[in-house]
Amino acid sequence: MNRSIFLLTFIFFIFKLWGQSESHYVLVIHGGAGNVIPERITEDVQPDYVEKLTESLRVGEDILKNGGSSLDAVEAVVRVLEDSPLFNAGRGAVFTIDGNNELDASIMCGKDINSGAVASVTNVKNPVSAARKVMEESPHVLLIGKGAERFSYEKGLEIVAPSYFFDQERWDNYREFLKRQRSGDTGMNDPSPVDMIGTVGAVALDIHGNLAAATSTGGMTGKQFGRVGDSPIIGAGTYANNESCAVSATGHGEYFIRNVVAYDITARMKYKGVSLEEAAEYVINNKLKEINARGGIIAVDKDGNISMPFNTEGMFRGFITSEGRLEVKMFGDE
Ligand code: ASP
Repeated sequence: MNRSIFLLTFIFFIFKLWGQSESHYVLVIHGGAGNVIPERITEDVQPDYVEKLTESLRVGEDILKNGGSSLDAVEAVVRVLEDSPLFNAGRGAVFTIDGNNELDASIMCGKDINSGAVASVTNVKNPVSAARKVMEESPHVLLIGKGAERFSYEKGLEIVAPSYFFDQERWDNYREFLKRQRSGDTGMNDPSPVDMIGTVGAVALDIHGNLAAATSTGGMTGKQFGRVGDSPIIGAGTYANNESCAVSATGHGEYFIRNVVAYDITARMKYKGVSLEEAAEYVINNKLKEINARGGIIAVDKDGNISMPFNTEGMFRGFITSEGRLEVKMFGDE
């Protein structure tokens, strides 16, 4: 009797270990879909983008392969991209109409659909970490402006002078925007203002089967001060639910909010029973494209399937999996 109990326990543990080694993780990232064309991202700067995107994937991989959570991974990955002036998030954010940087970010946990976000912050070095603090250390989902900044400071996050976010190229874009504005054409009502946008985001599935998503942005060049885009709006720019998938979006925020893009993809999977690929393709390349709303999304579902559709000419994107696959791409024809 004792022998058979011992044998059963032994078999049970073998299966458990086998199950763990079968567990896989997936991490997908984007660095925005604004004007990612060879004329602007020329051959001499392309390696910089590839290097930074790869670095962020490796940071996330380190967390996920050691059994870390998808939440930790997406936060860490987005922090790397926020710290890089190459992307419109954190350092290197675009300028508002009055020449300031106002940052938006959000994060969501697919296990319990808990979420947090900040909008219009001007001095928080890593807005994605502020979003996580809102999620985990406040009863709220979204904090804005001065309140979000004070909260971040009180929670011990790094606070910087607003000038930390300055980037000369973004400033030149802003000056161009002002010139266009003087001639009466800002492009702000254009659903496809590809030269004014950019964002970073990450979605992940960890070995415990939990999904998470995070998105961070400076918004759109020349945006009205106080304007909030889709990135910190749960359901529009970010969504994660273990029942379906995790999504992070990039594109013209007003259109992504009106079309509740990230949630629409998860809802199509849940209610229509379609695959991630079908749901994501439909939303980006049918629904949004029909109204000429430009952008894209990255997503991973609960089984580790990846989708990265975009209806712009390019989107900085990449993924890494536990099977050792790593890909980084930027243009549409790759
Ligand atoms: N979605 C962002 C916003 O509208 C911009 C972007 O993703 O490029 O604020």
